[in-house]
Amino acid sequence: VSLSFLVESSIGASSMNFGKSPARLLTKDRNKVTFKDVAGCDEAKEELQEIVEFLRDPTKFTALGAKIPKGVLCIGAPGTGKTLIAKAVAGEADRPFFFISGSDFVEMFVGVGASRIRDMFAEARKCSPCIIFMDEIDAVGRHRGGGVGGGHDEREQTLNQLLVEMDGFDPSEGIILIAATNRPDVLDKALLRPGRFDRRIVIDLPDVKGRMEILKVHARKIKMDASVDLMDIARNTPGASGADLANILNEAALLAARKGRSAVTNLEAREACDKVRYGKERRSLEIDANEKKTTAYHESGHAIVGLFVKYADPVDKVTIIPRGFSLGATHFMPKKNRLSYWKRELLDQLAVLMGGRVAEEVFVGDISSGAQMDITQATKLARSMVCEWGMTDSLGTVAYDERSDSGMYLGSAGMQERTYSDETAKYIDGEVRKIIDEAHLRATEIIKEHRDQVQLMTEMLMEFETLDRKDVEEISKGVWDIANKRARLKAQEELQKKTPPPAPILNKEQPFPPGAAGTSEPQQV
Ligand code: ADP
Ligand code: ZN
Repeated sequence: VSLSFLVESSIGASSMNFGKSPARLLTKDRNKVTFKDVAGCDEAKEELQEIVEFLRDPTKFTALGAKIPKGVLCIGAPGTGKTLIAKAVAGEADRPFFFISGSDFVEMFVGVGASRIRDMFAEARKCSPCIIFMDEIDAVGRHRGGGVGGGHDEREQTLNQLLVEMDGFDPSEGIILIAATNRPDVLDKALLRPGRFDRRIVIDLPDVKGRMEILKVHARKIKMDASVDLMDIARNTPGASGADLANILNEAALLAARKGRSAVTNLEAREACDKVRYGKERRSLEIDANEKKTTAYHESGHAIVGLFVKYADPVDKVTIIPRGFSLGATHFMPKKNRLSYWKRELLDQLAVLMGGRVAEEVFVGDISSGAQMDITQATKLARSMVCEWGMTDSLGTVAYDERSDSGMYLGSAGMQERTYSDETAKYIDGEVRKIIDEAHLRATEIIKEHRDQVQLMTEMLMEFETLDRKDVEEISKGVWDIANKRARLKAQEELQKKTPPPAPILNKEQPFPPGAAGTSEPQQV
């Protein structure tokens, strides 16, 4: 049994094998992926169940005259499991799976892509019922005529061939094309016409419950000790894709192996989480004491404002260990899965963002460039409040914005035009400025009122470098005892010395409160 093979081309050897289809075939006894390996994505699985039934026994459908869609378009961000779920469809039905990527067709020679498409379909016909999976279909399927070089370029021929093949086969032949993209907006209209990709499946980034399930699927393959709290990782990784989560667990296993442990402990899991999200710790980075202290004030400023405003998420961790591009960080743990933001939460968040800079002003007497990200984030937030969410009285509930940051909404026209006058533009800038100034003022008041706590937290950061949730709570409540902290650290160290036997992680499942869904923004300031 071969894992992959190349299909002979029609152009043949005389033209240096250019026509060979780069499609890889996963034969049915090689493909062991089933729906069990795909965590979450319940709606997608439900939609695809019918396709599975069809592949198993097409006559059941054709006898009744039912038509199965020829094409399924999977839409979702990279790493959300589009390939995985397509493989699982083939695995569930126990049928062959052809894999090809749109980017494989990006060739210099006109006609090569088209012949590859022809070959692939010819080969698939021999193995039907089967699945052809085309990743990154947008690489071939971009709307025509938009590119340089006029209308007769290579990509257009490839796309035409794909359309010809799709129209050419009868659903009863049992070939189903599953295509994946994260840019449905750039696809050629012809692809989306009825009779082609009639079924669309959107795969979102997982919410906290989905993340937990994905972690459980991947935890099966890794030796873990009972101290690992998968729910903790799930809660800490808003915005992570399935691929990111698989990566986190793998990183944790690598770290544990490097340390010579017999199983992954919570320490490695947390570390891997931070590493994948924010970049590797840079303990070796040389930082002079002054810089360190400024960073400590800055982070304490964020944390203290976060602890004393009413609607901010709880502070989870404050650290001055540099990681990735930042010199320090204050992490907030989302209490719930955010589906929308309320004005009062946003105002509090803006104050928290200002907290870092304000602490520098109050305690250091000068300001550093370290607040750059905070300022960018705050400005974006305030602008959205004014322009998109209608949160200012003076400008009313009118949408003013040209959305351009995601690229998703630009369409084919390129830059969109501004729809408001210069006067309004000035007014918007004024309102944004006002919101930020107010947040700055609030942060200043809080920091001046809790001067002692900022000072204490800064000193403790200088000593311990990282403070956890319990530490910051004690500091904010005025019950901090450094001896307690030292004892806690010592106990932790003891625990780490012993390497407990691996425990089956699957029994450690935690109940998840019902009704939570969606994703919330990762928060780190
Ligand atoms: P895409 O095709 O959407 O870019 P992939 O299917 O290639 O994403 O996903 C990459 C990897 O991420 C998978 O091989 C799998 O290990 C992991 N993964 C993604 N989504 C899931 C999921 N829902 N359940 C389990 N693993 C997942
Ligand atoms: Zn900051």
